[in-house]
Amino acid sequence: MCGYKVILTADETLMCNYGGNIFLGFMTTGPVSGFKPFNIAMNFLLKPIPLDSNGRALIAPLSLRIVESVLVDSNVVKPDEIVVTHPKSLSKVISEETKIIGISVMDPKGLGPASSTFSGPYGLIHSEPYSAYMFRKLIKSDVIQRARKWSSIVVGGPGAWQLSMNDMEKLGIDVLFIGEAEEEVPKLFRKIIEGWRPEKPTIITSNPSRSIPRIKGATICGLIEISRGCGRGCEFCTVTMRVLRHKPLGDILHDVNMNVKAGQRSICLHAEDVLQYGGTAFKKRPDLVLKLFKSVMSVEGVKFVSVSHAALSSIAENPRLVLDISEVLALTKSRWLGYQTGIETGSVKLIGKLMHMKPYPFTPKEWPDVVEEAFKVSSEFNWVPAATLIVNLPGEGPEDVLATADLVDRLNPYKSLIVPLLYVPMTNLHGHKARRLLEDADDAYWELYRVIWRHDMKWVSVLAKEYLAETNPKISLPVKFFISFVKNLINPLIELKLSRIKALEVTHKIGT
Ligand code: SF4
Repeated sequence: MCGYKVILTADETLMCNYGGNIFLGFMTTGPVSGFKPFNIAMNFLLKPIPLDSNGRALIAPLSLRIVESVLVDSNVVKPDEIVVTHPKSLSKVISEETKIIGISVMDPKGLGPASSTFSGPYGLIHSEPYSAYMFRKLIKSDVIQRARKWSSIVVGGPGAWQLSMNDMEKLGIDVLFIGEAEEEVPKLFRKIIEGWRPEKPTIITSNPSRSIPRIKGATICGLIEISRGCGRGCEFCTVTMRVLRHKPLGDILHDVNMNVKAGQRSICLHAEDVLQYGGTAFKKRPDLVLKLFKSVMSVEGVKFVSVSHAALSSIAENPRLVLDISEVLALTKSRWLGYQTGIETGSVKLIGKLMHMKPYPFTPKEWPDVVEEAFKVSSEFNWVPAATLIVNLPGEGPEDVLATADLVDRLNPYKSLIVPLLYVPMTNLHGHKARRLLEDADDAYWELYRVIWRHDMKWVSVLAKEYLAETNPKISLPVKFFISFVKNLINPLIELKLSRIKALEVTHKIGT
């Protein structure tokens, strides 16, 4: 084994393949204590990614693959001077030749919308989320802090915005890198390798890159970035700050082959809206999207192609494309394509005010109908939305919340999962007042929670059964056990609570 100059890693919630089911990654935002059945399921889920005999990860998070790729391509390091590894193998790969330990973060303080909703001081269970707990465990580990005597700790990745100078001092981070890696990471790493050491914690921010690099190894769940940015410009969303770029088809197929070579049979195409590939929100290119799916499916060894996100307005705009993709993937009622998407709100007022381009080519006024139409098209062609709603948007009043509840009610017939997420201010949008999910909920919020809960209880078991059909039972059984525990034991208690709240509401109304 060579003395690696650069070691790349991430905490245990990220260095995990989730049994090949990328949506299970959401569970890492749940509480690290306070709900035993969930914690039991997590013990089975968080299995380390496979490594070779030199500690090199055979599959790794996409963000680390990108850093690895830009460092090798810009000749900052040779391929045998850099390694991506699991935290448990750090002691095997760190040596006195190590100059940099690069750590990618997604949710290092548990401040993301999902962890804020399910865990933490504002969330469902007031305990720290796994994501934050595992990051702290990694960064404060003896092996990292010992290596800091002769190497620099650089932290970056999608969750880097959560860390402050104060955190850097407390946690022993030398450089915090915020932004896209492609342009600035090679310059920074070269400088450190040539002998520069920051005297005090340093924050570096970078501009968006011009292109998306090819990767040099397989990724978690076969995730391949096909586009970056979005172009719809919602005011609360950080993606708004990135220009829209697409990766050429040849580069995508290269990355697919990288994954297939490592034994991955399922590929997940990642973009904020996969249906926008090759075009823009204003001018779609369905021909290029279809060609993309056909090309990836025809790579020898690929069995299935899934997607990370698709926009509801793109689905409602082009049902024909949804049908064509379904045919390419040979989808059926039980072998469907899951995708993440944002409903955000059912209030046309808030859509018009905060995200007026989200429904394009439709208008904000049409948004509830666009959402229902997209769910209908999805259901017809075997796509299944995992849709998020934002609770406590700036300027949200009870009438907006009730409009969202009405919309959720309309979606009940369609197989899907609906997840409320607390609003987290990540842009300069004003007028936000923090609210705890349960303790600060008024009648309108309870009505919203009631319809969401009933929707999810209707669909969750069938979704889990079908989604996990081909998953290793060591992972699928604990997850199904957790779901059946919630459905059979927690659900009656929640229903009781919801009916008591309803009864109190009625009494209160009669009393006034
Ligand atoms: S459509 Fe989605 S990804 Fe695009 S700006 Fe709006 S919230 Fe962000």
